[in-house]
Amino acid sequence: MPHQLLLATRNKGKIEEFRRILDAIAPGQIELLGLDKFPDLHDVVEDGETFQENALKKAREMSLATGLPAIADDSGLCVDALNGDPGIFSARWAGSHGDDQANTAKVLTQLRDVPDEKRSAHFTCVAALYLPDGRSHTEEAHFEGWILRAPIGEQGFGYDPIFRPEGYEISSAQMSAEEKDAISHRGKSLRAIAPHVIGLLTSLG
Ligand code: IMP
Repeated sequence: MPHQLLLATRNKGKIEEFRRILDAIAPGQIELLGLDKFPDLHDVVEDGETFQENALKKAREMSLATGLPAIADDSGLCVDALNGDPGIFSARWAGSHGDDQANTAKVLTQLRDVPDEKRSAHFTCVAALYLPDGRSHTEEAHFEGWILRAPIGEQGFGYDPIFRPEGYEISSAQMSAEEKDAISHRGKSLRAIAPHVIGLLTSLG
């Protein structure tokens, strides 16, 4: 019997990405369930002060609510010239939650007078695993790059149109999903936590 694991997201893209990663390492051993299977679960309030706190809080609350091992991630954009902002506030940087266009416009305005060589930034992602017996594990990963002067590209989401990955001449919104997954903060943290997920789940017997 495969072990059931809850992925604390309603985002189908994230569920499919992590399913591919787990299947590549341990085919058939983990049955990944998304929050779409639990429509009555409450939303977790992301009031931690770090990506780590928020990711662990989401995983813990979802695990305790369902009795299943749960995995969650928390991510955001950290701009050096803004002392790491928007950071954990990335999704709501311009006020209304999830307004990608307003968020990117605000960052571009804040960086209007910042020269190209000082526009360095990175995305951070923390992936967290929580087991109903209280054990947990987290993995943090970064995606380094530069903030452009205007949005470009139609792929991806969030700040992708204004982010140029280090070593590339295109924005992350001009990359295919597979190309971005291979180098992104989320892809790296999920690939890093996958062996721990399999180790801890199989230790449950
Ligand atoms: P969450 O981890 O899903 O809560 O995402 C937080 C916010 O960070 C998103 O709403 C985006 O604004 C931003 N973000 C996180 N990862 C990415 C990415 O890969 N590309 C662009 N924006 C991102």
